Amino acid sequence: MTVLVVDDSPVMRRVLCDMLIAHGHRPLEAADGNAALAQFGAHRPDLVLLDVELPGQDGYAVARAIRAAEAGSWTPIIFLSGHGDDRSLWDGISAGGDDYLTKPVGSLALMAKLHAMQRLQRMRRRLVELSAELQEANERLENLSRVDPLTGLGNRRDFDLRLASELDRCRREGKPMTLMLCDVDHFKRYNDWLGHPAGDACLKALAEVLRGVVSQRPRHAACRYGGEEFALLLPEAPPSGALAMARVLQRVLASRALPHPKSKVSPYVTLSGGITTCTPDDRTNAADLVLRADAALYTAKQGGRARFWSFDMQVEAIIPGMPRSACDTSSDDGWR
Ligand code: GH3
Ligand code: MG
Ligand code: MG
Ligand code: MG
Repeated sequence: MTVLVVDDSPVMRRVLCDMLIAHGHRPLEAADGNAALAQFGAHRPDLVLLDVELPGQDGYAVARAIRAAEAGSWTPIIFLSGHGDDRSLWDGISAGGDDYLTKPVGSLALMAKLHAMQRLQRMRRRLVELSAELQEANERLENLSRVDPLTGLGNRRDFDLRLASELDRCRREGKPMTLMLCDVDHFKRYNDWLGHPAGDACLKALAEVLRGVVSQRPRHAACRYGGEEFALLLPEAPPSGALAMARVLQRVLASRALPHPKSKVSPYVTLSGGITTCTPDDRTNAADLVLRADAALYTAKQGGRARFWSFDMQVEAIIPGMPRSACDTSSDDGWR
């Protein structure tokens, strides 16, 4: 151990240092409080042997200053004093000392105390390591608890937490918040015809498309809301921006051309979407926003599927979806 020996008596320092060296420790020396604190700051010793009677500030004040300087950490301090009474012992421990020895100190007694302190120090370090590991494990667990294992997107829990925090932030900043709920069209028929493993693969492919679409903006996120429903969180996107995003999504999905042999609306996998935008105030709540997006999604389904609907825009904002047949690649609204 590196041991800081604080004593105003050069003879006492010599005796203590010799004992320490004889037992393989490395002593540092200080003759008063200021020198002790300077040495402590510069070398961070493993242990401090601290004389109580010092010129200027006494050992108790030095101990308090050491404790104040090492917030969150702990260096064992053993007081050395000519006073062997209980009151002095009490004062030493109260000032932040860990043990108290009466001078003259025998070599064996000093080494035994050092040994005990070293053991405590090791246990404390291990505890600190363990709590850091525990914190890391907790962070990993927290991340895992927010990921949907099939698609790797945020799961429903992640969605709820993000929506709440984005609503808060948009409320504070006076910015719009858009929510887009997407639902795979005729997905039951997809599963029934191609089997659930193919359905799973299709959900993964859709997740990839959604991830790509939201990747342009750091705060935009895609989550799996549940089953074959996905949610896009688009903070700061006004209704027009959200519709532009929906168009991009439709276009990317069309270019992926994932076959859906049993869909009633297209030979390819299509999405219907409901979009709602609000500039949140004190009365806005997440559940209402989801309800509105749901209602818009229902309208998109009723309107023929493979399209997105926003209540915040005009009727013509319905986006015609994918080509209705494999050979029909013409555009009816000019955005393809
Ligand atoms: P609609 O166009 O009206 O949305 O019709 P739909 O068939 O997509 O809707 P419905 O709610 O009847 O069916 C949803 C289907 O999604 C049923 C269910 O088996 C399927 N599904 C939900 N989660 C998963 C999943 O994790 N994997 C697979 N393969 N299928 C899923
Ligand atoms: Mg002294
Ligand atoms: Mg559904
Ligand atoms: Mg569906």
